[in-house]
Amino acid sequence: MAEKQHYAYITFYGAAGEVTGANFLLEIDNKRILVDCGMHQGEQKNEDKNWVPFLYDPTSIDALFVTHSHSDHIGKIPKLVKDGFRGPIYSTEPTRDISRLMFEDAIGLLEDDAKIRGVENLYEESDIAQAMSQWKIIPYHDLIALTPDLSVKMYDAGHVLGSAMMEFNFKGKKLLCTGDLGNTPTPLLRDTEVSEQPHFLLMESVYGDRNHDDKDDRRDHLARVIQDTVKNHGTLMIPSFSLERTQEVLFELDQLIEEGRVPKLPIYLDSPLAIKITEVYRKHIDFLNKEARDLAKTYDIFNCPGLITTETRDESKAINEAPDPKIIIAGSGMMNGGRIIHHARRHASESRATLLLVGYQAVNTLGRRFQEGAKTVTIGRDVVDVNCHVDTISGYSGHKGSDQLVEFVDAIKSNIEEVFCVMGETKSQMFLAQRLRDQVGVHAVAPSEAEKVELFF
Ligand SMILES: [Zn+2]
Repeated sequence: MAEKQHYAYITFYGAAGEVTGANFLLEIDNKRILVDCGMHQGEQKNEDKNWVPFLYDPTSIDALFVTHSHSDHIGKIPKLVKDGFRGPIYSTEPTRDISRLMFEDAIGLLEDDAKIRGVENLYEESDIAQAMSQWKIIPYHDLIALTPDLSVKMYDAGHVLGSAMMEFNFKGKKLLCTGDLGNTPTPLLRDTEVSEQPHFLLMESVYGDRNHDDKDDRRDHLARVIQDTVKNHGTLMIPSFSLERTQEVLFELDQLIEEGRVPKLPIYLDSPLAIKITEVYRKHIDFLNKEARDLAKTYDIFNCPGLITTETRDESKAINEAPDPKIIIAGSGMMNGGRIIHHARRHASESRATLLLVGYQAVNTLGRRFQEGAKTVTIGRDVVDVNCHVDTISGYSGHKGSDQLVEFVDAIKSNIEEVFCVMGETKSQMFLAQRLRDQVGVHAVAPSEAEKVELFF
């Protein structure tokens, strides 16, 4: 008698045709499982989606698996809980710890947004507490049995501290959900792991249609910028994302100073969230790569010589009076908010100052306007002349470029029946799917939002 056929379904509730808002529903073995529950970010029409009710009943969900703690993968978890989800939330320990900080940091901004919209806030403090009470830690490679026939295992994705790929194993066939995939090798993290050969692959495609610049010289580039800052007796402003990029930059600065390539100078870490997240990195050095871990066992690799952390507003303002040369690391990474704004307002017109961009700058952000060479920028109500140097180091991207994504699939292709390219703009998703069909010889598609597909197990 033929083996009974089993079906599963994936519905792409977010991050299909866009980078942000990761939210995938897996219906398998009579379970309803979510992978990630993220915010939509970027343009207004994207952010509006955060305020639309879930397209499924949160009380019907059995479990939530979280790949990593970027807001576009976790941001709506407290809302899911507020709307009745009471199942377990699974992730690594750093993902849980950083997620809590992210929720607490976001609630105030969401409240402002809710007031403007005339609606109640997306979630309250009590929903964060409730979400944390449902959270369960799983180490990489442990097998979590959800039913007698369905288990889950996590692999290191090498994207941010604690990031994971989720492998669902149902009756011996595997579905791998990548989350975001790291730009391996990185200064702090382990390389993206090679999983067992999956049958189905749900993968990111942020850079599906393009590669990064060579990253070999990023530390040299950073050293040159600092040397110029010292020579010019100026201020170096580095807008930085609180998670991973900030800790990478602190580590690189530490290495440069230790090696004597740049002199010790005051380095202000002017971001309460980044300061707290750096504490989580200190707590979980076991999640770092071997070189960083070995160093971290002997001294504090995030406390570079000259580092001054500024948590309060007054401490932040006092940086204005501190003598040059100095370095200020402040959020937000794209300059669309955060303390970097007041530093940019003060220093953008100074020819001695430098603005160093170390991350992707989305369209319509202040960072992008600087990057495109604007002669003047509007900051709040002020129109500011741009006389400072504006420089970009692109090698710090946290995502795999197109060639690396293709290599990633090529290494695990032997059983693949279908690849779903998601978490990218439509053209990136489609370009990557085309490359995977042509160069790797796998069946690859780019699903659209809310599309539901059937998997045969
Ligand atoms: Zn991410």
